[in-house]
Amino acid sequence: MDRLRENNKNLHELFAAPIGLEKVAKLDGEELFGSQSLNMSFLKSMSKTAKAKPLLKTMTRLIMQKKLIPCWMNKNIFKLVKFKIFAPAYKKSGLAFYYPLTKKIYVLVDNNINTFGFSSNEWLSTLTIHEMCHLAVGKNPTGFINVFRSILSEFYQNYFVEALKLKEKPNVSKFVSFIYNTYDVKGEFRFSTFRKYYDFLEEYRPLSVMKDNQFTLTTKLIVNAAMVSNYSFQTFQSNLRNYVPALSPIRVAYREMIGNKINSIDSLVYQELFVPSEVIAILSEVSSSYSSKIYSGLSKLL
Ligand SMILES: [Zn+2]
Repeated sequence: MDRLRENNKNLHELFAAPIGLEKVAKLDGEELFGSQSLNMSFLKSMSKTAKAKPLLKTMTRLIMQKKLIPCWMNKNIFKLVKFKIFAPAYKKSGLAFYYPLTKKIYVLVDNNINTFGFSSNEWLSTLTIHEMCHLAVGKNPTGFINVFRSILSEFYQNYFVEALKLKEKPNVSKFVSFIYNTYDVKGEFRFSTFRKYYDFLEEYRPLSVMKDNQFTLTTKLIVNAAMVSNYSFQTFQSNLRNYVPALSPIRVAYREMIGNKINSIDSLVYQELFVPSEVIAILSEVSSSYSSKIYSGLSKLL
């Protein structure tokens, strides 16, 4: 009986999908389609996960406001120029990404009957909440930094202590404000901004136990990693090994905060160098002492 009902449900999903199909977005010329029934199936699948359940009201609101847009997978989406930067991970049967130009999250689901299975639900909820952290910046830039400043300070203090071998935790609040406003909020990646970035790091020199030339090399590498990953992701990727002294302290900084849970994050971490909302987004993926602050922050900001 259950089996039959399950099959009927699948058939229903399968045939319901194309009915009421509507164009919900056009990104770089690629049209994306969704439907009211897809919205409902998405929310239903989220309600089944422990992770998304507390944010269900927020997700429902975002869907109604068309800030969160479930749509059917379109393979051409991978051709989007900036796709790699905004959605580096594609696994299982769906993906979600925040598109800064439209300030919306697109959740792409595969048009097959197993899309909303157990593992996919968990995966989609993790991705969607990750992207909601980025959306919160677009929706409420001042609120975001006010709510999350203490978590961000903790992260960047850890990062600089490790990367620049500092004797004590530095004051990072001006640095965090600078990268947050410049890159996260304004998306301004002009060369002169990286010059300024370098000047911020120079202020930490008196705290470092590194030899002078080593300190200079490391700070240049950090700025270079931030800059090159934005200007040419391909160049950055093919030189990854050279960037280890700038990138591996990112994982150390997380480890100080969430211990070995950072091991479950298998994507390349580098956006933290210029996009502080990535720190909150990554922390949202694992349950930790930061979770309740992140959850209540998101439902307040979005
Ligand atoms: Zn992210």
